[in-house]
Amino acid sequence: MRETDQETLDPEDWQDLRAQGHVMLDDMFDYLEHLRERPVWQPIPQPVRDAFHEALPRGPTDLAAVHRTFMKDILPYAVGNAHPGFMGWVHGGGTPVGMLAEMLAAGLNANLGGRDQIPIAVERQVVEWVRDLFGFPDSAGGLFVTGTSMANLIGVLVARTAALGQAVRRGGLAACDGRLAAYASSGAHGCIAKAMDIAGIGADLLRLVPMNDRYEMDVAALEAAIRADRRAGFRPFFIAATAGSVDVGAIDDLAAIGRLARAQGLWFHVDGAYGALAMLAPEIAPRLEGIGEADSIAFDFHKWGQVPYDAGFVLARDGRRLEDTFAAETAYLKRESRGMAAGSPWPCDLGPDLSRGFRALKTWFTIKVYGAGRLGRSIARTCELARYLGRRIEALPELELLAPVSLNIVCFRYRCPGLDAAGADRVNAEIVIALQESGIAAPSTTTVAGHLAIRAAIVNHRTRSGDIDALLAATLAFGKTRVSL
Ligand SMILES: *Cc1c(COP(=O)(O)O)cnc(C)c1O
Repeated sequence: MRETDQETLDPEDWQDLRAQGHVMLDDMFDYLEHLRERPVWQPIPQPVRDAFHEALPRGPTDLAAVHRTFMKDILPYAVGNAHPGFMGWVHGGGTPVGMLAEMLAAGLNANLGGRDQIPIAVERQVVEWVRDLFGFPDSAGGLFVTGTSMANLIGVLVARTAALGQAVRRGGLAACDGRLAAYASSGAHGCIAKAMDIAGIGADLLRLVPMNDRYEMDVAALEAAIRADRRAGFRPFFIAATAGSVDVGAIDDLAAIGRLARAQGLWFHVDGAYGALAMLAPEIAPRLEGIGEADSIAFDFHKWGQVPYDAGFVLARDGRRLEDTFAAETAYLKRESRGMAAGSPWPCDLGPDLSRGFRALKTWFTIKVYGAGRLGRSIARTCELARYLGRRIEALPELELLAPVSLNIVCFRYRCPGLDAAGADRVNAEIVIALQESGIAAPSTTTVAGHLAIRAAIVNHRTRSGDIDALLAATLAFGKTRVSL
């Protein structure tokens, strides 16, 4: 058999690659070091969009040339969540340490579906850390997934199997008695309804329980909804409480909901996508009281944990419940007690994915290098900045706070005297677009109490009070030109 160097994808000259690799690394360090000097986001010029419709490249292109294209056409036009002025949606900022760890993981190219390898021990180390952080027993199990959307889906599926028995995995829901019903607050994230849909239970079978004036699930209404469903012949099986709601950052009364779930025999799941990691901040952790009683918790390291995307996580109080739901025997995944096929159960037995990347490594590096204390302080700091923003809004006659500042999310609007509700909503939507296009600050919008709100979610560890001041100054300036029109 004839072999040429053309058949491997490794370089002919490692020295050249090494030099180019250092250039690429330095460019990213420069980007992170000088992030503040850039706009948060900028509109994408048409020629740049057009550049991404070329034909499949049949021949090679020099790595340095492709990297130059990255620097010119990709790097400047990301959404900007690494930037301290980014306050839209709930996005983490990432860290240089996470970036470096991601490079190491890619170099190793580990597949964490299973087999006997230390990368899985690293993932299990993270499981132990979060198990202890949430006060779960040693029997807890968990794994990395893409994000909380997937982690919530796993929560629904595990609760379904716990309620109906493993027979549901073969026979399907149609073979089971009674229709399942689940509960979350009307402020819950949309991915929970989507999880009910994907699981085949049906999005309408997620009952959206009203909220109190602090935007927390009304526990009395929850209990009433469960009773009404039972009377109507449904099988209530799952409650998803929210710890850090996406609209306003509210935390449901986890302790009360946990007690009710226990008394009613329902699975108690917590969607703590970003809020759960507040356990790292001693001054905020008490607000999550009751989270340790959950049957499962879904959360993201890529939001408040600042781990680069993506790094979602699902933790189950009893790890065997994950196996009951996902383990499946196949000849090509046969287990042994020695050799590479040892180490069962494997991560692929605990969730839907077989091939899985080494998300654990960037998380392990982040926690080791910064330490839980420093990560917790950066979380507490974002809440302090949110309170500062809230106080400044209350002191400015042009602005109105639309919801109490519970954690790190601030919903407000520019007052538009003389305009009707639709007009005021339009002005506020325009202010947000103007802010985003200015590159000064990037909040997003939501609807709170029937009003379109300017929503600033302070998640980024780089954000400082000066960034808050810049957001306010620009909001006032853009509001003034629009309202006086
Ligand atoms: C972000 C978020 C989600 C979705 O998580 P992803 O990681 O984006 O899939 C779910 N629930 C809440 C409360 C969130 O903030």
